[in-house]
Amino acid sequence: MLDLVRYARLKKKQIATRLEEPGTTICACCQHMPATATVGDTALCPTCLPAFALDAHGIDHVASLIWLPQLEQGVLSRLVLTLHVTCARQSVTVRTAATGEAGIAALNFELLMMRENALVDRIGTAKISEYRKACRKLDSDPVQRAHFISGIRVLHHGNSFSDAPQFYSDYLRTLTGSVTS
Ligand SMILES: [Zn+2]
Repeated sequence: MLDLVRYARLKKKQIATRLEEPGTTICACCQHMPATATVGDTALCPTCLPAFALDAHGIDHVASLIWLPQLEQGVLSRLVLTLHVTCARQSVTVRTAATGEAGIAALNFELLMMRENALVDRIGTAKISEYRKACRKLDSDPVQRAHFISGIRVLHHGNSFSDAPQFYSDYLRTLTGSVTS
């Protein structure tokens, strides 16, 4: 299981490097989609990337933290990707969808977003940019740490990083095309 507490306490900056040959390696987190980038030695798909690229510029626009002990990070990424793809099929996003299957996907995404509050109650923030600081304040007691590891997840909002503003929507379009063809 991804230990986001240990990960956030690492001194090394966690930023992404694009893969020279995307698509040849499967994502180490969801073990489902092809990887397009690496953070350190970990190959990641676009949906799992924000869970590892904690120091990426503009990370809070791309993803946030939620409290969701019921699902492992990789399973959550698979689910969230499905919600984004469902919306992309109707040319909307989880924020703009209102009707049909996309509307249902948007409602489910909103339910996941609401899990931010449960994390704010525990560590004081749901922003990834503030996560390192919050982790340093956590008690190092192993039982408490295990508790946090068991529930902190990263939720991809369907947005792109600012250095490639169309990247995630293009990614979804590609998947939509492959689904409908
Ligand atoms: Zn992945």
